[in-house]
Parts: sequence; structure tokens; C-alpha cells
Amino acid sequence: MRRKIAVVALAAASLALSLLAGGPAAPAQAADKPLIGLTFDDGPSPERTAFVLDVLKEKGVKATFFLQGSHAQQYPDLVRRIKAEGHVIGNHSWDHANFPDLTQAGQKQEIDATNTAIGAITGTAPTLVRFPFGNSTPYALNYLRSIGMSGGIQWHWEVGEPGDFECPGAAGVQKYVLDEAAPGAIILLHDGNDVLACPATQWTYLAKTIDALRAMGYDFGVVAPSTTASALNEGSYGVVVAP
Ligand SMILES: [Zn+2]
Repeated sequence: MRRKIAVVALAAASLALSLLAGGPAAPAQAADKPLIGLTFDDGPSPERTAFVLDVLKEKGVKATFFLQGSHAQQYPDLVRRIKAEGHVIGNHSWDHANFPDLTQAGQKQEIDATNTAIGAITGTAPTLVRFPFGNSTPYALNYLRSIGMSGGIQWHWEVGEPGDFECPGAAGVQKYVLDEAAPGAIILLHDGNDVLACPATQWTYLAKTIDALRAMGYDFGVVAPSTTASALNEGSYGVVVAP
């Protein structure tokens, strides 16, 4: 609430300055606003990815999609659409394996097969990885570095309310996102796997939550690789940047 008041005060001050300068108020620049990064994991899915893309397009929001390689291979048209609409695509393993349970060869295979599948569809291999369950290993992190990829991308997790995959309903998902919102925060959401079992009414959260974040003064960014770990986002090797 304090943040909202500050943003309104800032907008009023900016308008006053602009009126003093004798001109109309300039449209707010994205760079003036704190960025927040919506990320969608586990897709693409024929059930929900097109819906998410429709909402993002209608709202003028760019996001980051961490795709499961097996799903990308199965639904290449959705992968092409994600790319064509200006979103960032990252690697979320081939079949959502828990990396600490895999052999080194198995971990390499999860990363490589997914990069190959996404690269074959879009012409560009991802530079970002989000480990399933957020679980990395020293081997996988070294391997990513050796092939020029960024370390794992985690998410902002301070309040720790039930996420969208736990089916808290539309109001619950919106509360989770708004409570985790912070300048530069990476927000964990899903468009495949477990979330598909939630009631369809839950999906009304997306448009409303985007509007609520804008009302709080946020603009939307995408995740870019970083060589240093972000304390804000649980050690993510990535930052939210303007799309
Ligand atoms: Zn996942």
C-alpha cells in the first residue's frame, strides 16, 4: 500500500513538472517503473498455453516460459507462438526430472535434449535453465557454465503462500503473486502439469493480477542471464530486464 501511494505521488509530481514546463504529460517510460518478471513453467500445454498467451497479448505483457523439452517437441506450434509473440524461452529439463536423483549423464541428457528440441523449433537454443523443483546439482551447474548457459533461475519466495500449482483459486493465486511482488522479483507460475488439475475458474487470476500489479506501479520484464546469483530471487543466475 505504501508503494502504491508513492507511485501516485510520483506521477502527480511528474505531471506538475510537465505542466510547469508548459507541455502535456509525457507517457510514463518503462524504465521509470520497477519491473517484475512473470515466469510460466512446465508447458507448453494444449490446455492452457494459448490462453496464457492470449491474456499476455491483450494486456501487452512479455513473460518468460520455461518449457519442458518433451512438451516442446509435442506441441511445436505453441513453442513457435511463444517465440513469435516476443516472450523469452528457457529450458525446464526434458521430463521434469529431479536432478539430484540423476546420474551425471542423465543430467546432461535432460539439458541437451531440451536445448536441441527448442533450438530445432525456434532456431535459438535457450540460455536460461530452471531446474525442476528448483533443485540443481554442482555437476549440472558446472555443465551449464561449460556450454555458455546461465546457472539456474529460481524465483522470489519470501512469503511462501500456496502457488498456482496447489490450486488456491483465482483470489489465492492473485494474493500469492501480489504478496511476492517486489522490484526485480521473478514470479513462479505454471501453464502445464499440476496446474492443469486446478479448477478452470482459477485462470481468471491472470488478467486481474496483471491489472493489480500495474496499479501498484509495476511494469513487466523478462528474465535475462546473469553471472552473479541474485539474493532477491533465491540465488537465481538471472535478472528481470525490460523486454
Ligand atoms: Zn516445473
